[in-house]
Amino acid sequence: MTDAAARLEDERRRLLASITSRDADVAGIVAAREGSNVDDEHDPEGATIAFERSQADHAADSARRRLAAVESALRRVEDGTYGVCEVCGRPIGEGRLEALPATARCVRCAARGDR
Ligand SMILES: [Zn+2]
Repeated sequence: MTDAAARLEDERRRLLASITSRDADVAGIVAAREGSNVDDEHDPEGATIAFERSQADHAADSARRRLAAVESALRRVEDGTYGVCEVCGRPIGEGRLEALPATARCVRCAARGDR
């Protein structure tokens, strides 16, 4: 399982870096907006800034969700339950773990959707 832990750590570092840069994007967009003193409702540029900001916010949210999944997988590595399906308790296939290292469900339970 050390390979899995190393992959998860890599993924965690990558996500943290992308969250940091996305936060910087959002901060930059907000600063641009404050500096330009535009009216969102009536200024076409204001609408663009609002749109860019919502795109950046959305990307940061999805990176944070993935980070949460990776961190919970790392906790499972520590407590020895990594690679075991959280729903049925059977081992998760090696190929699936390679493709989706942070997954907590076997392919069958994942296909069945949410609990
Ligand atoms: Zn399962």
